[in-house]
Amino acid sequence: MTSPPRQLTLEEWDRRHADLLTQGLREPPYGGRLSRHVETEGDLRLRHLRFDNSAAALRLWNFLLTENQRLRAARQKGERLVGAMKDLGTVPVMAYALPGLRAFYPDGAWWTPCLMECSDRLLQLAGTLGADDSFCPVRAMLGAFHTQEHFPEPDLLICSAGAVCDDFSAIAARLERMGRDILWWEMPRRRQPEEDEPACLLPGGLSAPQAQVDCAREELERIAGALGGLAGCHLDAPRLQAGIQAANAVRGALQALRQTVFTAPGGPLPALEMQIAEMLAIHFCSDRQESLGALSDLLAEVRRRVQAGQFAIGPEAVRVYWVNPVADLRAMNVLESCGGRLCGSDFMFTHALDPIPEDLPGFEALARTALADPMTGPALDRGQRLVTECRQNRIEAVVISRIPGASHCAWEGASLRELVASHTGLPVVELEVPPVCDALLPTVRTRLEALMETARARRARSKPGPAA
Ligand code: SF4
Repeated sequence: MTSPPRQLTLEEWDRRHADLLTQGLREPPYGGRLSRHVETEGDLRLRHLRFDNSAAALRLWNFLLTENQRLRAARQKGERLVGAMKDLGTVPVMAYALPGLRAFYPDGAWWTPCLMECSDRLLQLAGTLGADDSFCPVRAMLGAFHTQEHFPEPDLLICSAGAVCDDFSAIAARLERMGRDILWWEMPRRRQPEEDEPACLLPGGLSAPQAQVDCAREELERIAGALGGLAGCHLDAPRLQAGIQAANAVRGALQALRQTVFTAPGGPLPALEMQIAEMLAIHFCSDRQESLGALSDLLAEVRRRVQAGQFAIGPEAVRVYWVNPVADLRAMNVLESCGGRLCGSDFMFTHALDPIPEDLPGFEALARTALADPMTGPALDRGQRLVTECRQNRIEAVVISRIPGASHCAWEGASLRELVASHTGLPVVELEVPPVCDALLPTVRTRLEALMETARARRARSKPGPAA
């Protein structure tokens, strides 16, 4: 059932799917032809993407693209739905630790305009609801809440406040004005501890004043009370610990996948599937167990490929670190067609990749994890991790993809670029990627090709010359 890695069009995948079935492929209930998502859900963008040809990638895509159905089925079974906004990985750990709760990520609607090539008109609708295109594409969430077509109405809506970007603060406040009850929790903006101030280490190697961790911990305990009320069951220490261990199993599988892909001689899994795989760590795509299954399949596939010396992207490709998620998933394919290969990434939720400490009381561990969110502290902290990972992963070029309208992108990109260039000397490019980037594709391509050319010239210069 295995074949050498290749990137397939949607039509080619349908033929491969039929072949795999005749070879005995067994799929989970959400399995099936990829093209059905175009026909039934209007996910038109799939027609312009190139997909990895493994059965593991098929499972990943089908899992991602059936989240809405999964949530509706859960509601019908009597499960309670929790919308966890703007914390990228903390509240879902608590929600999944309780029976009968399923957390999802309404902010994820920001990819709907891309997937549906704007036929959903969510961005225009958001404009009529008070969030025009001076806001980042996460404003699509407002439209999705309004139409109720992209996810079911949650039973409980939770959102962090405080160290949150201006876009999200305004959009969530607007949502509240539209009549949604939001349970807010305060996330302090992370700062360096003062001299002599009690401090603690955070996952990922940062540190923070203990007072800030205490504040986040108390807030998370308050949120746990509300989640427990919804579940009809107290989130006690053993339950939370089990939830943390289960979340760490997902994070562990993802870390192993990243490690294997980023350190292999060639690229055993393309950038597009890597970005999708990373998203599972945030909220488990509404099924924690299946997330682990999908990631484990991918890991087994890339290990098999590495062992067989089979690569989707050749060893000569330029090793690229990508910063920020792309609003248009097609940009990940373009990276490879320009001669690059994803060997490092910061898609704005690196704190959801690091293991949650298991040797601390559960809420303390979660508070430290939440405070390690790269977006809740200075760009310098984010940049330092970026520099470290560039060195560890032998990165040759860095792409900082700006998100249109995003309040943090105006200056953060420039400061990250300066930091990386001054500490590593690597070539760096900043690009803006809109939700459908077709019109900008020639520019994006030209800039990426120039980046690859610069990186290859640098590579050639650093090779030792012939002995005299
Ligand atoms: S501005 Fe950035 S951090 Fe804020 S919601 Fe948009 S993408 Fe997310």
